[in-house]
Amino acid sequence: MNIHEYQGKAVLKEFGLPVSKGRAIFSPDEAEAAARELGGPLWVVKSQIHAGGRGKGKFKEAAAGEKGGVRLAKSVEEVKEFARQMLGNTLVTLQTGPAGKQVNRLYIEEGSDIASEFYLSLLVDRETGRVAFVISTEGGMDIEQVAHDAPEKILTFAVDPATGVMPHHGRVVAKALGLTGDLAKEATDVISRLYTAFLAKDMSMLEINPLIVTKDGHLRVLDAKISFDSNALYRHRDIVELRDLTEEDEKEIEASKYDLAYIALDGTIGCMVNGAGLAMATLDIIKLYGEEPANFLDVGGGATEEKVTAAFKIITADPQVKGILVNIFGGIMKCDVIAKGVIAAVKAVGLQVPLVVRLEGTNVELGKQIIRESGLNVIPADDLDDAAQKIVGAVKKAA
Ligand code: ADP
Ligand code: MG
Repeated sequence: MNIHEYQGKAVLKEFGLPVSKGRAIFSPDEAEAAARELGGPLWVVKSQIHAGGRGKGKFKEAAAGEKGGVRLAKSVEEVKEFARQMLGNTLVTLQTGPAGKQVNRLYIEEGSDIASEFYLSLLVDRETGRVAFVISTEGGMDIEQVAHDAPEKILTFAVDPATGVMPHHGRVVAKALGLTGDLAKEATDVISRLYTAFLAKDMSMLEINPLIVTKDGHLRVLDAKISFDSNALYRHRDIVELRDLTEEDEKEIEASKYDLAYIALDGTIGCMVNGAGLAMATLDIIKLYGEEPANFLDVGGGATEEKVTAAFKIITADPQVKGILVNIFGGIMKCDVIAKGVIAAVKAVGLQVPLVVRLEGTNVELGKQIIRESGLNVIPADDLDDAAQKIVGAVKKAA
């Protein structure tokens, strides 16, 4: 789960990290009031969307003006004017994709005098099984570009969970960023607090880009992008409350209601599979035969008929879907339950596209019989290879 920058900063503030004062607002009038309250003389008007690259982004609508999604304002009137221009309009950044994202809220923040901008992030390093820091002096820029063009400018190290952040980590960071004296001490403090916040809130990613040195010689968190581990959200009610459903894929929201592991993708073949490994293999084999999957969907081990029906409805609701592949290896999951679910869903929503069903395992004969007797136009398949070829073939024929 992702949250907005201003929410992320509020979380970090709880852990004592240095963030600027700011107010989240939804209208130009609120922007004006927030600007007055903050007092100036410099403000930053920041689009709140779940995507980075806002500063360099561009609005689709001409009325939003030429400036990007993060704007420096020098008066209360300018703050209000920017709010009027940006709210309700669509910001396109490198991370939003060409469709962009509608800006529904802004963060009005006091402006900082920036001496230098660094990059700093924490993530779970699957290789070492530890939380790793990624640090670079090249903050504010596109870090992927730096990683590509000048990988020597990026430093990473993993933290031993038994000891946590140690003074030597602080020294490594200070040296890498060229910080000495009090700033070096602040760097140690900042990374130790970030590490504590990361663990306490079960984050999966915490990116500060930029972490700045102010002209008066202090470190400050100027941007914050945080993702939380969805599997741990049950123990963070406060975080769950920060969820902004308007930022999420509608199909993914619907899927989460039924506890379905669903991820929307860009292709044309909708997939319903049980087991994450089999689901991944199904995506691979669809690509192998020359089409792209429209989603990842794992209905799980013990899905009910109701859950299968919901899954099927989510798949068919996607206008991009030109064919559906149901691939079930029945173990705990029984093939007849899947068959009943698919039929119930087709009866409810109709079937406009070819449907290939491959069933194997527990109660397979019963499942196949249910589908045969339903009279539905289902293309049966014998194995995964056969199923993939059949659905790709059917979609290509229909196109
Ligand atoms: P994004 O990463 O989405 O482009 P940022 O929050 O990093 O958005 O803002 C982009 C740039 O705007 C920063 O690199 C920084 O130079 C500037 N900026 C952001 N917030 C402030 C602020 N409070 N004061 C001064 N400059 C800011
Ligand atoms: Mg940034």
